[in-house]
Amino acid sequence: MSTALFWFDGHNDTLLRLWEDHRGNEPAAFLQGAPEGKSQGHIDLPKARAGGLAGGLCAIFIMPDPDRPDKSANAPRVGQDRALRDTHEMLATLIRLDRAAPDALRLCKSRAEVDAAIRDGAFAAIAHIEGAEMIGPDLDALYVLHAAGLRSLGPVWSSTNIFAHGVPFAFPSTPDIGPGLTAAGRDLLRSCNELGVLFDLSHLNEAGFWDVARLSRAPLIASHSNAHAIAPHSRNLTDRQLDAIRDSDGLVGINLGGGFLNPEGIRTADLPLDLIRRHVDYIARRIGIRHLGLGSDFDGTVIPKDLAGAQDLPKLAALLQQDFNPDELAQFAHGNWLRMLEQI
Ligand SMILES: [Zn+2]
Repeated sequence: MSTALFWFDGHNDTLLRLWEDHRGNEPAAFLQGAPEGKSQGHIDLPKARAGGLAGGLCAIFIMPDPDRPDKSANAPRVGQDRALRDTHEMLATLIRLDRAAPDALRLCKSRAEVDAAIRDGAFAAIAHIEGAEMIGPDLDALYVLHAAGLRSLGPVWSSTNIFAHGVPFAFPSTPDIGPGLTAAGRDLLRSCNELGVLFDLSHLNEAGFWDVARLSRAPLIASHSNAHAIAPHSRNLTDRQLDAIRDSDGLVGINLGGGFLNPEGIRTADLPLDLIRRHVDYIARRIGIRHLGLGSDFDGTVIPKDLAGAQDLPKLAALLQQDFNPDELAQFAHGNWLRMLEQI
């Protein structure tokens, strides 16, 4: 990377998109981008290089079982066996890329490896799990996945599993829906703290959030959530939650998803980029720019139409330059996330 502003992103669903749209051919689709006529997505190597996206947390997300009889938020989304199989396939994409094209992408397991990848111009990927259905109550899979490179985990997506209760999508709504962590969830948190696996709060309900705030030894991280005071979506963070993240010296990743930016709650691409600026300014004023980063949700949701993907991150930088000096902007764009990665 040159001295130009570069970005490190706290959340993308690129592995899932590659797996769904280019199965069997995921490494090539990342390295070269999708062939013409195929869905283009938000992140691939050419787009990342064009926009100065140096790396990020790459989520492994398990699609719900289409045949499950009970589709309510409290029903299990998928069994452990299938979740583990799909996890292997998505994690293998990162491992294969790292082995075949280390100049293009590296699966990073430490802050030092992230720094080295960025210095060498390789996409610095951190393996992240969004919804831990592949891990049983014995936590064996956590230890095996950690040995394979996993360094970040959100216990739930927005549904219930053996560990916790994800916050259902609701608007307008507080995140205070349902009970907190289960006993297995508290074990999972303790093991993640011991292993140096980040514990992501973005899809957790409020009771679970406060359980983690009370029990965790690590700074609190919500990798892709926005300000509830601006957009009162159940997935966004209340002022009290923001304050707790600041008090733990943690981090909020700003989500570019229309549904979480929009004060009207509608998931649409037809939104001005200035809305991103409003969320950033609000949170920065409340808890300080030190506790803010990017959590794009690229390849996972609908984003404002003026951002086609990672290649357009310079547009976001130009917008935020109006409010922040170059030092603050660099903290927001990458510095704060890199500090969080010292925990791994
Ligand atoms: Zn998410």
